[in-house]
Amino acid sequence: MTPNRTRIFRCNTCQDLFAHRHYAKVAAQRHVKRSDDPELPGLNDYAPPLVACPHCGDAFCLLGAEHESEFFSIDTTSPMVSDSIQKVPDFAKATLAQCEAQVLNWDDTDLEWEFRLQAWQRLNDERIETSPRGLDSNQLHNLQRLFSISTRMRHEPLIQVELLRQMSRFEEAANILRPLFSPVVNLPPESTVAQLIKAITEKNDQPFHYG
Ligand SMILES: [Zn+2]
Repeated sequence: MTPNRTRIFRCNTCQDLFAHRHYAKVAAQRHVKRSDDPELPGLNDYAPPLVACPHCGDAFCLLGAEHESEFFSIDTTSPMVSDSIQKVPDFAKATLAQCEAQVLNWDDTDLEWEFRLQAWQRLNDERIETSPRGLDSNQLHNLQRLFSISTRMRHEPLIQVELLRQMSRFEEAANILRPLFSPVVNLPPESTVAQLIKAITEKNDQPFHYG
């Protein structure tokens, strides 16, 4: 599939190039949902704030970074441009350690939410592979901060429910859900809410796939 936008970045460490390719209809390809991303908005435009250089592996903060160049799909009709763009590798996924280290730099800033959310989701990538797996004290602190910010910013309540559930605060999670989505009996079993209610009832604090 041809990306409809390609941005080229230069690594600060090794000075080599990598790409962020933007594809249309990414959201439509996601069939399996995950308990920690109830309907993340704007998935088409989503890029993780922290990535890794595919050449040297060093972390690179994509959020706010200047790109070297930008190409739109119409440009790839030119073979020369197309070849040079296609050779540039995509950015790599930042490791959990890189995401958790990055969080420390952004406390009490406007971007604290973005980096903490990424660190949590990156952690869940690993937890979901090795479930059940608990949280260490820094990871628990990360969830506590996300919950606090989310409450203050009045974010989507399902994110708050999921954060509470993963912290084993099942009563509080149920208390948020109860007034929002009753009567529970009418919910389709594959819905996010029904899945979260089931997990809370079972006192399951692990991230999970469904749908
Ligand atoms: Zn590099």
